[in-house]
Amino acid sequence: MYAVFDYKVPANAGLYQNALNDSSKEARAIRDFAKFGRTWYNVDVQSAAESRKLSRESLVAKLNDWKDSGWIELKPTQRRCRYFIIKELPEDEEEMDKIADQMFSRMEKLEQDEVDRMEGVFTWAANSLCLAKALAIYFDDFDSFPGVEDVCGRCTVCNSGGQPAVVYSHAPPVISEGMIQSVLKATKIRDDARFLARVAFGITSPRITAEKLSKHEIFGIMSQNRWDDVLARFQTVVDQYAAQYPDGPPPSNSQPAQSISTAGVKRKLSSNSAGTAQFTKKLFTGGGSSFKKSYSGGSSQYKKSFKRY
Ligand SMILES: [Zn+2]
Repeated sequence: MYAVFDYKVPANAGLYQNALNDSSKEARAIRDFAKFGRTWYNVDVQSAAESRKLSRESLVAKLNDWKDSGWIELKPTQRRCRYFIIKELPEDEEEMDKIADQMFSRMEKLEQDEVDRMEGVFTWAANSLCLAKALAIYFDDFDSFPGVEDVCGRCTVCNSGGQPAVVYSHAPPVISEGMIQSVLKATKIRDDARFLARVAFGITSPRITAEKLSKHEIFGIMSQNRWDDVLARFQTVVDQYAAQYPDGPPPSNSQPAQSISTAGVKRKLSSNSAGTAQFTKKLFTGGGSSFKKSYSGGSSQYKKSFKRY
């Protein structure tokens, strides 16, 4: 669900006065919480709704009303998944590991779902079947196009006599080793394959911003490749690095000092959230308490570094 929106004064600027004159509770909450940038107002409807004891939906509906009336231009900017702590953190080391593993595989599944969804859209758009009919089939709607020959007759595919709307190659470019190396040259981070893949793909994250990589020339250079391929390639880098330095990076490394234990797992309660903090598995952040678990050790631990990603 979208939690943050941007809106701005429309081309017909006079209409914006209507939004300013709207005296509803929702309108006031939006205006009070909107932060003005250079052109756009940015409003976190989730926080605004919570502080004014309104529903997020009512604020979203209000913004859409304004947009539909032509009073503002509107765009959603951030989708946010919210998590709630429903149980106390267990003391038991094994229990904690179990929860961390569960969270990791859930994140992985969400990621795979997103990738599959995008694949689905590309496949749909690159098909030579009527676009409307393909959607109907996808949603099990067999009434709209009952006959085999039935098509909508109006979509891009129908209009072009069966030519796909877009060309989508299922054979993405082979991974360029040169690009991989240039990404690795741009950052010293070696404990997080997803972080590296995101840099290569051009997907920002708080950690990437903290590392000042989103403005780097290599940011997004591999966006033509497949996510799975890029991630797998960086995973081998991370695994090799972990095997080479089982106790963490060598001292000559210019990264901040690490808290490393050779005797397996070492835990650390810390409020340090520096982007380069290594081997840190962030389990829970919420309710004012932040808990972090530091690891040294084998590659399987590195794989779990979903913190800040
Ligand atoms: Zn059609």
